[in-house]
Amino acid sequence: MTAQAVQEDELVTVIGLEIHVQLETDTKIFCGCSTKQDDAEPNTYTCPVCLGLPGSLPVLNEAAVEYAVKVGKAIDADIPEETRFHRKNYFYPDLPKGFQITQYDAPICQDGKLEFRHEGETRTVGIHRAHLEEDPGSLRHVRDGSGDIETRTVGIDRADYTLVNYNRAGTPLMEIVTEPDFREPGEAVSFLEKLEEVLEYLGVFDSTRDGSLRVDANLSIVPAEDIADDGTISEDADANRTEVKNISSHKGAESALAYEESRQRNLIRRGKAVEQETRHFNETHGSTVSMRSKEAEKDYRYFAEADIPPLRVSDWKEKLAIPELPDARRERFREEYGLSAEAASKLTSSKQVADFYEDVAEKFDPDLAATWVADNLLGELNYRDMEITDVEGRLDEFTALIRLVAEDEITVKNAEEIVLREMLDEGDDPETVIEREGLGKADAGEVERAVEEAIDENPDTVEDYHAGEGGAINFLVGQVMQKTGGSADPGSVNGMLRERLDE
Ligand code: ADP
Ligand code: MG
Ligand code: ZN
Repeated sequence: MTAQAVQEDELVTVIGLEIHVQLETDTKIFCGCSTKQDDAEPNTYTCPVCLGLPGSLPVLNEAAVEYAVKVGKAIDADIPEETRFHRKNYFYPDLPKGFQITQYDAPICQDGKLEFRHEGETRTVGIHRAHLEEDPGSLRHVRDGSGDIETRTVGIDRADYTLVNYNRAGTPLMEIVTEPDFREPGEAVSFLEKLEEVLEYLGVFDSTRDGSLRVDANLSIVPAEDIADDGTISEDADANRTEVKNISSHKGAESALAYEESRQRNLIRRGKAVEQETRHFNETHGSTVSMRSKEAEKDYRYFAEADIPPLRVSDWKEKLAIPELPDARRERFREEYGLSAEAASKLTSSKQVADFYEDVAEKFDPDLAATWVADNLLGELNYRDMEITDVEGRLDEFTALIRLVAEDEITVKNAEEIVLREMLDEGDDPETVIEREGLGKADAGEVERAVEEAIDENPDTVEDYHAGEGGAINFLVGQVMQKTGGSADPGSVNGMLRERLDE
């Protein structure tokens, strides 16, 4: 090992995340405008409050506070006696008031934690704080068309003008700030997956909504000796972290962090300083570029939001119930239904899957239900790049298919390989597929006749069977399956043939 390599081994990657999640309340956080907008025309879901018109007054949405308290319970956070709102002042066209209403010195959640799995191990990350705030509007930078060139959305540096849409302005956000506890990009991604899972279980978040989770990723390279055994980083650590802004996917977070990690390590290797700065992630190139030197807190001139009185929330924690969370549910599935660790994890990966599994397990057998939900249904959905939410309205049809299997009305093979697949590809219900493909299970008489025929028509194979040739029976089973159009059960055909041949 060279001297340099030894030195690099002594440098540790340190990562902390700031995550903005949209809370799925029906209305915005400080006005009555709906947040359920589908593909609404720009600026059609606005009012004087979320447009920041002078003289309009905000009214806090109780549901947003309830959701925040639920998140606090799920991450085991302290919820203070009293929580307050502040104004964070900055000028940008997506912020019509010139300030964002957010929380500052008394956030609704502090000192929480979340366990997650990474590479087969359980890890815990500290949650420094989580607070409520309003989302700004959204901007679209446009390049003017001329001649054959279409008018299109471009980066800000190439734009002729910018359009602003305030439909999003005032959507409730929770900003969740982790401690700098991650040591590699992949770890941060495993955490994000777990966080989304928990938020969806709580029913406060929808990961399928565009832009519902945005991440600012902080990364620094720190000498190992500046990190204490408990993970705290010494104050005088020579760590100049960078903050990469506005990453909108898990994959984006991973590549932005990986890029920053190698960029900073390369600078250090060449004896250069890492500037403390805010950087922008370029999703297409997978790279980060310098945006501005980091703004300091004093730049925002925080002061108390006098239009919203302080809020006493300490007893809400007791009053508000939260559903069983993924970890607890996974353990219960293992105990109650005797599932393997792997099956239990798959079946609790989303609340919809877990609910569906429990519904099926109660009606039929837990093992059969596990095979059908975890392996067959999720497997086929995954193959088609679909999720359970894409077939939410059709769960009854899948239950009907599982019933047909449980009651022996159709063979397992046909159910898996034909009916389930056609249900997903054609959108048909199981009865329609069975009818169309003639898959109803053959009755006993029909199978017996096919067995007799197969024996009569293949005297050579029968001879081979008696001479002890192993493949002969498989050939005969194949014949029977063909005669019954695949509607017999191969295992019992095998038994019937042997019985007849050994007579
Ligand atoms: P700011 O308000 O300036 O963004 P904070 O102290 O609130 O700064 O920290 C913001 C984020 O930076 C947190 O997610 C935290 O985990 C992370 N962070 C703090 N120190 C480091 C570090 N040395 N390396 C990487 N991330 C860090
Ligand atoms: Mg920050
Ligand atoms: Zn409004």
